[in-house]
Amino acid sequence: MKPINSISRKKIVIIIAFFILFFLLFPYNGWARNNGPNTIVLLGNKDLAPIVYDDKGKSKGVAVDIAKAIGDKIDYEIKILTTNWEQAQRMILNGEADGLLQINPNPERDKIYDFSSPLLKSEFSIFVQSDNLTINNIDDLRGKKVGVEAGGYPNKLLEGYGEVDIVLINDWKTSFKELSSGNLDGILVDRWIGEYQLANSRIKGIKIVETPIETQYSRIAVPKGDDQTLSLINSGLKEITEDGTIDKIMKQWQSKRVVYITEDYYYTFFLRSVILILLSVTLIILFLLLRYQRLSKRLEDSVKERTEELRYTNEMLKAANIKLEEMSMMDGLTSIKNRRAFDIAYSKAWKVSLREGLPLSLIMIDIDHFKIFNDTYGHLAGDQALIKIAEIIKGGIKRPGDFTARYGGEEFVVMLMNTTSEGATIVAEKIRKTIEDLRMKNEEINSNLTISLGVASIVPSDKMDSNKLIEVADKALYKAKKEGRNKVIV
Ligand code: GH3
Ligand code: MG
Ligand code: MG
Repeated sequence: MKPINSISRKKIVIIIAFFILFFLLFPYNGWARNNGPNTIVLLGNKDLAPIVYDDKGKSKGVAVDIAKAIGDKIDYEIKILTTNWEQAQRMILNGEADGLLQINPNPERDKIYDFSSPLLKSEFSIFVQSDNLTINNIDDLRGKKVGVEAGGYPNKLLEGYGEVDIVLINDWKTSFKELSSGNLDGILVDRWIGEYQLANSRIKGIKIVETPIETQYSRIAVPKGDDQTLSLINSGLKEITEDGTIDKIMKQWQSKRVVYITEDYYYTFFLRSVILILLSVTLIILFLLLRYQRLSKRLEDSVKERTEELRYTNEMLKAANIKLEEMSMMDGLTSIKNRRAFDIAYSKAWKVSLREGLPLSLIMIDIDHFKIFNDTYGHLAGDQALIKIAEIIKGGIKRPGDFTARYGGEEFVVMLMNTTSEGATIVAEKIRKTIEDLRMKNEEINSNLTISLGVASIVPSDKMDSNKLIEVADKALYKAKKEGRNKVIV
């Protein structure tokens, strides 16, 4: 049996040999590309946002995306390194890279570079203070302090105008501040870049001279004579133009484009937002207030309605009470006051007479032989007789202080205030006579229906019991009965 480790060693050797052969036949693209034959290195301006710029060590921008798309088409890795623009141009001349990304041709550059087909449209525009009315075109820049980026197209352009005081820009924010404060008269830059920088720095008081001083198409530049790289780039550029890739990239970046938003804009935006919020809050408060008012009005109305209902019910109850009270004082059969009513009226009359020192008289009345009348003619006839007699007794008294009541079964009482026994006797006699004259037959005793009356009169005093007067009147009545009935006894 062979030792295991000798077999393993053979296998390992075979495997390694296989891998070496494989990589020789199919070399890994990524490795070869790293500055190998399938790589194009382009240099870009690190400070040209949003077209090409350095973002924490990464190259970004619309031109960068376009260059990468070109690379995909021609199957090359296009590496973009961003650096200071002047340095980038020096590096190209030293052969340290294959080309420059995003550069505008001019006669001077034409001598040293070959340019690709157009990449992006550049509108070189002048940025001035908002109230500046004197700078409208490039000629107006003569004798003025104008900021441009070192080595950029505007820089070259203005160098041709000897009288312009060119100030090289190191930092966009500082330069725009200087423009705003009046240390610079203008800044000349690609409109898209200027707007982007201005928006980022949020400096107010700056406007754009609407008409660009020049419209150019930026390109990719290669050192003069490098036709191979140029034609590769051009073929890729043509493809991405034709298949719409470049439009897609432009659209993506256009949507990110920040159009000239200054502090003024933010200020008005902020003010408008505050006003809008305040307005909304006011509207909400108003709405709630209205709702509250409506609710409280409804509540008030319903309380009023309930109160009115209660008041009405209360009045009805009071009226019903009065009616009940009245009914409880009335005699159901004869419709004159009953004993209860008499008791109350008598007690009051006693007190008044006592206070005033006036005479108070009572007439107690009892129908004679009424039992027989009932037995003879029946109870219903008896009732009718009672009603009639009550009517007559009531009709016999006229003065306001006088009072009539049914005292018991067939007994009545008449109370006369401020009346002496003489006066009361006259009243009693008148009543007796009227009943007698009625001539209501009581056949059983061969006579007419009559009444007996007992009169009592007194001027009340403190020591007296009010019942005494009733007693005396009763006694007088009893006497009248005894003495033959149909009589008034005082
Ligand atoms: P006197 O002359 O002594 O008074 O004789 P009298 O029959 O009237 O005797 P008394 O007073 O004792 O009788 C009262 C009678 O009155 C008894 C009853 O039949 C009758 N009476 C009492 N109340 C009513 C009533 O409401 N209706 C009728 N129809 N009769 C009544
Ligand atoms: Mg009686
Ligand atoms: Mg009687």
